[in-house]
This record gives sequence, C-alpha cells and structure tokens, in this order.
Amino acid sequence: MTERAPVLSVRGLSVRFLMPGGRRVAAVTDAHFDVAAGECLALIGESGCGKSVLASALLGLLPGNAQTAGRALLGELDLLAADERTLARTVRGRLIGLVPQSPAAHLTPVRTVRAQLEETVAELTAPRGGRKALRAAAEAAAERAAFPVDHLDHHPHELSGGLAQRAATALALVGDAPLLLADEPTTGLDRDLVDHTVDELRRHVDNTEGAGARPDTGRALLLITHDLAAAERIADRVALMYAGRIVELADATAFFGAPGPRHPYGRGLLDALPDRAFAPIPGLPPELGALPDGCAFAARCDRTTDACAAMPPLGGQVACHHPHAVLTKAADRA
Ligand code: SF4
Repeated sequence: MTERAPVLSVRGLSVRFLMPGGRRVAAVTDAHFDVAAGECLALIGESGCGKSVLASALLGLLPGNAQTAGRALLGELDLLAADERTLARTVRGRLIGLVPQSPAAHLTPVRTVRAQLEETVAELTAPRGGRKALRAAAEAAAERAAFPVDHLDHHPHELSGGLAQRAATALALVGDAPLLLADEPTTGLDRDLVDHTVDELRRHVDNTEGAGARPDTGRALLLITHDLAAAERIADRVALMYAGRIVELADATAFFGAPGPRHPYGRGLLDALPDRAFAPIPGLPPELGALPDGCAFAARCDRTTDACAAMPPLGGQVACHHPHAVLTKAADRA
C-alpha cells in the first residue's frame, strides 16, 4: 500500500511557538511521513509530545504565536502555505474530515445534532430526494458513529462527553474528504465503543464494496492517539513521536508484534501496558522549551552511551544510535 501515491506528504514540518520574553518552544521538529490512499497511519506517543500540534498545523489552526517550516502536501496543495480562506472553504471539512480532540468546541452549541448533521450532509453530499433523504442520510451517519438516533434532537450541552465525541465523529464521516484526520477520537469512550469507532474510521478509508476486495476509496486516515490498542487494531503503519520528533516509522504488525519497536521509547511504551510487562518508563519527557542538544529520550533510556549526546537522525526509519535489532523471534527481544 505504501508504494501508492500519497494522499498526504509531510516533509520537514516544524512548529515553534514564540513565548513571552523571546523563549522558543519547539513543539514539532522536522517531521517527515506520507499517508497513502487506503492506508491508516497512526501517530502515537504520550500526551504533550506534539501530536495535536502537528494536526493543528495541517488544519491551519495554530495560534498566532506559532511559526511553521517545511511542507505538507495534500495533492498539489501545501497546507502550510494555504491562506485562511482556502483552509476554511476548501480544506477543513471538504479535503480533510476532522474527528476533533475536543468535540465540545467543534459542535455548534445552539443547534441540535440533527440540524448540524443535516446541514453537513446537504453541504458535502447534496443528496437527491429532498428533506426525507437528508433526514435519512443524517441518521445513517449517526448510526455509523454509534450515535443514538433518539438523541439527535439534543443540543451539544445535553450530551455526555462520549456522546459528543460520537456526534463529532458522525460529522467527520459525512462526505468524501480524501484525508480523515482523527485526533484522539476515542477520548471518553468505553472499550467497546473505542473498537466500534476506530473500526468505522477504518471502514471509511477501506474499499468495502465487492467480494473481499478493498475497493479504492482514495481516502487515507491519519489517526493521532495515545491509545495503543486502538492504533494496533486499525493501523497499517506507525509513526512514533517523542518530544516533538518522529523517532520511528514502522509497519504496525512488526511494531506491535514481532520483532517489536526498534526505538527504546517504543519498547518502553509497549512494556508499560498492563497486558504486557506493566513496567512504566521511568521519569518524564523533557519540557519542549528546554530540549537537550542530543537525544531527548536519553534521561529515560537504558541503552544510553556517550554517542547519545548527539541528535540521532531518522536513518533506517529509527532515530536512535543503538536501536533494538530486527530479530526474527519475539523471545529474542532484549
Ligand atoms: S539515541 Fe541513545 S539515548 Fe536515545 S533512544 Fe537511542 S540509545 Fe537511547
């Protein structure tokens, strides 16, 4: 799948925040990745590592004190160079369907969920059949996101966090945006609903017509999450982020299974899971405003040597001077 033309191609994307007193916070540094049609790339890492800042940069939703560098090509359009009019009219909703991290801020407070869904359906799909077809399409979108139809006439403030998340997901699944960007789409959902939600996101990019084939929808999914189980469930590839940098790009099956992550941070994240070693990574990530010159994971890493005082490049898809070897047996994992 990865040899197909990318829907999204990110090259050297960096985001800095200029803080009072001239301090600079490097929230995202030199990110490179592609997402192809029919593919799900999971961008994973702990909260605060820069994942959502990267998403905001793609959507043109960074605050005024942000500075960006690099390119993010969606087709021919460089999202980082696009003006606000293009972003508002063409990108957000039409070219990028967004499942937001904060649905309460995304939903219009004074309108019912039904009204918002019907308006989005009318705007993005223009269904034939008048009012009845519009209503049916809105209810179908709600059902796909497991939003209960008997709550469609509620306003956002009448919804629990989980229901608001499902309403926002339903809105994102309307239309035919080539890129679906899901930023922590499972927040506030119980495990069954997490599975349902991510499966729907996956189906949105899959070719589900035909007998067993994966029809080409031309869509791609960028899943931003700290929920490793959700990423493992639906992702084709993984981009592991730490302290603002992507430190490993890997096939999801290899990352979550055997041979496992090659970067010590990825190993640590998986080993921290209760159904694995249940051994948390010691220490905390560094402040993005006070990053060391060398590897940002050094203070928490059990493989550190003097070489780690220099920043490791992302050569061979892993930014580490001493990555774990590509082994053939899970039992060989160090
Ligand atoms: S570069 Fe060094 S400190 Fe950083 S993750 Fe690799 S071994 Fe650990």
